[in-house]
Amino acid sequence: MSNDEIYDVIIIGGGPAGLTAGIYAKRAALKTVLIERGVFGGQVAITKGVENYPGFIEIGGFELCEKFLDHAKAYDLEILQREVVATEPGVEYHSVRLDDGTVLQAHAVILAAGGTAKKLNTPGELENFGKGVSYCATCDGFFFRGKTVAVVGGGDTALEDALYLAKITEKVYLIHRRDAFRGSRILQQRVFAEPRIELILDTVVTRINADAAGVCGISLQNRQTGAEREVAIEGVFIFVGFAPNNQMVPAGIKINTAGYVITDEKCETSIAGVFAVGDLRQKYANQIVLAAADGCTAALAAAHYVETRKGAAK
Ligand code: NAP
Repeated sequence: MSNDEIYDVIIIGGGPAGLTAGIYAKRAALKTVLIERGVFGGQVAITKGVENYPGFIEIGGFELCEKFLDHAKAYDLEILQREVVATEPGVEYHSVRLDDGTVLQAHAVILAAGGTAKKLNTPGELENFGKGVSYCATCDGFFFRGKTVAVVGGGDTALEDALYLAKITEKVYLIHRRDAFRGSRILQQRVFAEPRIELILDTVVTRINADAAGVCGISLQNRQTGAEREVAIEGVFIFVGFAPNNQMVPAGIKINTAGYVITDEKCETSIAGVFAVGDLRQKYANQIVLAAADGCTAALAAAHYVETRKGAAK
């Protein structure tokens, strides 16, 4: 492989972190490619409305992602729509292996693969995915117009999406395993004020029930009293957090017990020249603005790393 074919930076993932890294890498005149296997924007693309990205009082998640992508394209960022199957650190260059067998090489790699929705691991969940079980209110809420649904979880996603579903559906049961929500105060206040949302607290889902037409109910158990009950619903939306997409994180990189990559303040991992950003990286909070900030930090640090390596090789 000639040096012309070696990238300065390969970015894996096209969410807010990866696209911001792409913008900053191109502004630093780095030979850069971004690889994305699916929809640009990651989790944000399936978020109904974003109200906390500075500069936008309210903007659709998909619309915000389109703006990120347009911005990156304005810098002629090279984009490959493929799946990465492995990242292999090397002494001279790091390699990124794609699903078609292609191997790309670069001085630096920025891992920006984000995370995916966690499963509840309840009987009836996987069998009824797409038949009433959903992990995306924006994608599937439309199918439940005027119907009764359940939302499971107590974080920002569960609260936001329960509010969204309350506008479309007849009724939303919000089922949470504790009596206090993890989600932000402002969302809690809106949930408490929404007459179409009925809270079922201290309660776990023990089974998702279905008939030939799809989901028809859920079996619940109160954690304090042990009492069991069934609730008739036609859809259940599960928002119990997400797990980092760390499958392509190479062995040898430090990760925490929850699977998030541990980095320094430059977003550099325990392997020099390999950076991790956004929802894949261990940090205090997962927010779009923080993912974008990570992308900026990693690209600036990668630029410095690449320049130093090229300078040392002369
Ligand atoms: P999260 O904050 O991790 O919340 C997950 C919720 O699911 C928690 O309430 C948790 O209960 C519950 N849970 C977890 N495992 C469960 C199980 N097996 N059975 C029943 N319940 C379970 O996840 P998230 O809401 O997806 O949010 C992820 C991150 O994105 C957070 O940092 C959040 O702030 C951020 N986010 C921000 C926005 C926004 O700012 N607009 C929107 C969405 C998400 P416990 O509380 O008991 O642990």
